[in-house]
Amino acid sequence: MAVTMATRDYYEILGVPRNASQEEIKAAFRRLARQYHPDVSKEPDAEEKFKEINEAYGVLSDPEKRRRYDQFGHAGLGDMSGVNMHDYTMDFSDLVEELFGSFGFGFGPSTSTRTQRPRRGRDLQMPIHLKFEEAVFGAEKTIEITRNETCSTCRGSGAAPGTTPQRCPTCGGRGEVRQVRQTFFGSMMQSMPCPACNGRGEVIASPCPTCRGSGLERKTVRKVVSIPAGVDNGTQIRLAGEGEAGVLGGPHGNLYLVVNIEPHKFFKRRDHDIILNLDINVAQAALGAEIDVPTVDGKTERLYIPPGTQPGKVFTLKGRGVPHLRKSGRGDQHVIINVEIPTRLTPEQRQLFEKLAATLGSNVKPKEKGFLEWLTEMFGG
Ligand SMILES: [Zn+2]
Ligand SMILES: [Zn+2]
Repeated sequence: MAVTMATRDYYEILGVPRNASQEEIKAAFRRLARQYHPDVSKEPDAEEKFKEINEAYGVLSDPEKRRRYDQFGHAGLGDMSGVNMHDYTMDFSDLVEELFGSFGFGFGPSTSTRTQRPRRGRDLQMPIHLKFEEAVFGAEKTIEITRNETCSTCRGSGAAPGTTPQRCPTCGGRGEVRQVRQTFFGSMMQSMPCPACNGRGEVIASPCPTCRGSGLERKTVRKVVSIPAGVDNGTQIRLAGEGEAGVLGGPHGNLYLVVNIEPHKFFKRRDHDIILNLDINVAQAALGAEIDVPTVDGKTERLYIPPGTQPGKVFTLKGRGVPHLRKSGRGDQHVIINVEIPTRLTPEQRQLFEKLAATLGSNVKPKEKGFLEWLTEMFGG
């Protein structure tokens, strides 16, 4: 919505003398309108200038308004709010049509190209759920998209078959209406989207029964999508042109799939690295071991654990992580060692630990209490 302060002298705006004839005023207006028409002019303030010219011409081309303006200046037009600006705007757009039509600027029969221009459809976003391995190695997934499609009955026009949308009579097809409002500072010209046609410039007398005039139809479509290897939680996959259909034949928006990865039973992910917590027992930690470690590739890899390995020690399997999304190579797999302390011992294991304790000179509790002994201790006996 643009607001113009009508304060500059109208003769000055059109560049004509105060005693200019109607022909001179019209000629000056034609020249300036061609120069500043926002669809043609490259000037940054063309739209403002164009409105100013338009307003000046609206007053000076009307003998009665011009007489009042000559006598009282802008104040003489104070009651212009009562003037029906719609009619004036329609006259004006007809004039511009004539202007540009005759000067071969290639405009169609209407000046409403700006408001009726096809619009791109909205972008859509939806989650895509992947298994851990699918995110690592990529996958083909079938998705269902519920979106607006161009109505198949009316091909997007919104009009019932056999009828066509009509030029809006309220705005003359321009899609916007202008109003002069009186304010403390003088009269202000405002443009706003036409309320009769919502700025489309056309009205539909008999709407299409399928889409009720919207030109769009809700549909669910299935698509097979290639998920690239290496996506992570929150990665957005852009599917160009798979969003909502555009209006009046405009292009579709895009669809963004937001990756959501199911947790794995034992692998975890940190960017392009895979983390595996591996339990070894005290004997393996103390004596060393060779262990076949699972990798995301589905095969195991032999890991050498040296004698005396401490809990929390991290071993790295180079290149066993997640492929990089936009460059070659893979991350690593980190194996974090956890030393399991046995919670139940066979009599033989117990004996061995006791021997071990003796050689280490440790003070150990000689014998685990049985449940009955514990009961007796707790409640006396
Ligand atoms: Zn339709
Ligand atoms: Zn309208």
